[in-house]
Amino acid sequence: MKLSSMHVHTLREVPNEAEIASHILLLRAGMIRKLVSGVYGFMPLGSRVIRKIEEIVRQEMDAKGGQEILMSALQPAELWQESGRWYAYGPELFRLKDRNDRAFCLGPTHEEIFTDIVRNEVSSYRQLPMNLYQIQTKYRDEKRPRFGLMRSREFIMKDAYSFDKDQAGLDKSYDDMYDAYAKVFNRCSLTFRAVEADSGAIGGTNTHEFTALSDIGESEIAYCEVCDFAATTERAECVDDLPSEEALLALEEVLTPGTKTIADVANFIKTDIRKTIKAVLYKAEDKFIAAFIRGDRELNLVKLVNALNIPEHAIEFADDAEMSQICGCVGGYTGPMGLKNCTIVVDSELVGMKNMLGGANKENYHIKNVNYGRDYKGDIVKDIKLIKEGDLCPGCQATVKMTRGIEVGQVFKLGTKYSDSMKAYYKDEDMKEKAIVMGCYGIGITRTMAAVVEQHHDQDGIIWPMAVAPYHVIITLVNINDPVQTALALDMHEKLLNAGVEVLLDDREERPGVKFKDADLLGIPIRITVGKKAAEGMVEFKMRRDQEKIEISAGEGIEKAIEIVRREIKAVGDKAANSKY
Ligand code: ATP
Ligand code: MG
Repeated sequence: MKLSSMHVHTLREVPNEAEIASHILLLRAGMIRKLVSGVYGFMPLGSRVIRKIEEIVRQEMDAKGGQEILMSALQPAELWQESGRWYAYGPELFRLKDRNDRAFCLGPTHEEIFTDIVRNEVSSYRQLPMNLYQIQTKYRDEKRPRFGLMRSREFIMKDAYSFDKDQAGLDKSYDDMYDAYAKVFNRCSLTFRAVEADSGAIGGTNTHEFTALSDIGESEIAYCEVCDFAATTERAECVDDLPSEEALLALEEVLTPGTKTIADVANFIKTDIRKTIKAVLYKAEDKFIAAFIRGDRELNLVKLVNALNIPEHAIEFADDAEMSQICGCVGGYTGPMGLKNCTIVVDSELVGMKNMLGGANKENYHIKNVNYGRDYKGDIVKDIKLIKEGDLCPGCQATVKMTRGIEVGQVFKLGTKYSDSMKAYYKDEDMKEKAIVMGCYGIGITRTMAAVVEQHHDQDGIIWPMAVAPYHVIITLVNINDPVQTALALDMHEKLLNAGVEVLLDDREERPGVKFKDADLLGIPIRITVGKKAAEGMVEFKMRRDQEKIEISAGEGIEKAIEIVRREIKAVGDKAANSKY
């Protein structure tokens, strides 16, 4: 392909709104273009990368017996009402009406649609198991679209759904998908970890997130270097501190003026922050919630909404004034004793703590020696705290480490959640009707593209791994007006093409400096420069990731490029094939 006849518009300046490398570089390299917040288009080079990632995903899905289909993005509300998600999904769902006032949504995911297809077309155990997938555009009205392709409102996802006769079948389908995902991300040259993730109120270990490690990632991961524990912080179970053996002391009200935070009050009365009770107040629909954790802990909102069995979008911080009127708490001085008209959720760790300091629900006062059971009780007692670096590992009691990552994929055992609500049944060998057991599996194609750039770039631009690069080789023709240089460049271009190498020829009428800068920005893995020495049949050969340049004959340059392209694509393929998960 000749760059002179391709639309590639690179930018020298860093676009204002872009903060992270992948967003900046994909925009600067002219691979993506923003339409409005959270909505992007893909230009020729960007679109090629998307196709490469999709192809890897397709191959690995097909290898596990997945069948590709393509469903519509426009979905009728009725199906979502049937599953109960029309409400539960909340404001992230793009809803719209047709000219006859019939409600629709733009699919953020497709459980309902796939369940509907299968309930209509599958009736016998003989048709199971089945795995259907698609690669398709999804819509989510994200609260905070940001970081370009990382969190957008329109994005491409591969979503797969498995349909099995029983739990054992689902376990096998899940393991297959888990294995396929590990292969996909290896082939994309991502450094990643599969971590246990939150599965909502149901609990259990039935979902993993595949997370590409990166400091800019929004997922926080807790992991252990001693055992194989790895979980998102939202999900990670916490080990409660050992119960205290102290004898119970009598309650004592203490004057603590102007101490609105836990740190203030602990400092004021010179006590360890671990001897204090922290209150966090919420409202969900019209109900109030007072959650209590130990003063040194942070609340885990996902665990709290799971404990309350409500969707996350339904909960918000309570208005202090309103809540104090109705429940009797006092902003900054809220404690667990004497509250009314609210659900009290107590972190499991507090139950074993003795003689704690809590708010008195009275301006400027706290109470000493508050004890669970004797002085207060929770309507719900559960682990609602956030794990932190240095906590005990729930697997082996070593200490927990933290890292950050980008969630690029997720696998999930749904069980019969959708087949029950939407009546997707099959007849077993004895003609008995049973619910189909389902799993769902997503990969963010566009987010994966951004994650690859996060892990593979330098200050000059992108450094595409060979298997997902838009082109393998760029030939930089230094002087397009020199017939010898031009002839050699064209000849190499053709020979590489014939060998199945994807090659871009930079034959634009630009200064060499501009061409080199663009080549670095675009990140094509191999650069061959055809310049003055063309007359002697010599070219310059350089890998994008290395500084070193070598001078070799055009023939050797071709051989070397072919060999490197094959070797590097094979290497990630082998790594994927040999990886044990
Ligand atoms: P997140 O927690 O980041 O919002 P999610 O858990 O809601 O993501 P899933 O429903 O599991 O996402 O979707 C499957 C995959 O789709 C994710 O693993 C991610 O790679 C991708 N994805 C989800 N939301 C977005 C988005 N707003 N922009 C780009 N990719 C997304
Ligand atoms: Mg997810």
